[in-house]
Amino acid sequence: MPNIKARTGIIFHPDYLKHNTGYHPEKKERLLSIMSHLKEIGLMEKLELKEPRPATLEEILYIHSKEYIEKARRYSQHGMKLDPDTVLSTDSYDVAFLAAGGAIKAVDSVLDELDSSFALVRPPGHHATPDRGMGFCIFNNIAIAARHAQKIGKKRVLIVDWDVHHGNGTQDAFYDDPSVLYFSTHQYPHYPGTGWLDEVGSGDGRGYNINVPLPAGTDDSGFITAYEEILVPAAREFGPDIVLVSAGQDACKEDGLAQMRMSVEGFAILASIVKSIAKESCSDKVAAVLEGGYDLNLLARSVAAILNVFMGKEVGNKQHEISPPVKARLDEVKKVQREFWHI
Ligand SMILES: [Zn+2]
Repeated sequence: MPNIKARTGIIFHPDYLKHNTGYHPEKKERLLSIMSHLKEIGLMEKLELKEPRPATLEEILYIHSKEYIEKARRYSQHGMKLDPDTVLSTDSYDVAFLAAGGAIKAVDSVLDELDSSFALVRPPGHHATPDRGMGFCIFNNIAIAARHAQKIGKKRVLIVDWDVHHGNGTQDAFYDDPSVLYFSTHQYPHYPGTGWLDEVGSGDGRGYNINVPLPAGTDDSGFITAYEEILVPAAREFGPDIVLVSAGQDACKEDGLAQMRMSVEGFAILASIVKSIAKESCSDKVAAVLEGGYDLNLLARSVAAILNVFMGKEVGNKQHEISPPVKARLDEVKKVQREFWHI
């Protein structure tokens, strides 16, 4: 029934613009560019716009230590940096609560009435570890949302992280936890330095952390093959109750902060693969949360492409040949992960 569109929402709050980073790639113009593009192409009127509430302190404590939260509050009050990359203004602490609340709202809205949602939040979150903010991130929005989903009964959570940087904070948060499967494709070697393929989880969580470190220059074909040949079979076996996406679009070629070669259409295909996993295992429920993406034009266009897929647009999956170094890397990942999954 091609006329019936899946109900898709975005989560946004104007206060996200108040996190003032000054001259910095993670700036308010990122969200302004996305919002104006969605209006310009007529997508906004087809989307449900949801306003988030700030996360509660108790919810931030799902992931972060009391000491670190207090440090973030103090540093924000004084406008001090958490690390050389992670700038805080006086509003940043409150905005970070609202960003985590946006990710929570993305989960709540797909469990209530929507099929898919995309939380257009800042600051991003996937580098924030339980006791440290870094890499533009204050609180780990997606990790907090994953725990929130579990509190309301969605026991098994799949987090797909296609941001070009490894989500070290998310990996840390769930490293020994078999109820959250973390899958990340990222440029390697690159910031933050973690994410090699032998980081597979520990204790009961062994096997529930899948890192696909890709060489600089990897294009759509390399990413799509990683998703089709590694993520899909592992996710099928895992059987998530909800699928969350750390949606950073900084693997776009010409992004500026990395050296990958993804296209806007490539992100639409990744979104369709993730959507098909959700269709099979959890009634189509996907909640995406914005991470990186620093070229204002490519970021806006890729977010729109992902939203179109969430709304039911079919994308052709072009035949692809992958470069020998990427193929070799994917083979290495499979070899390691075969201990845990039928890949
Ligand atoms: Zn990134």
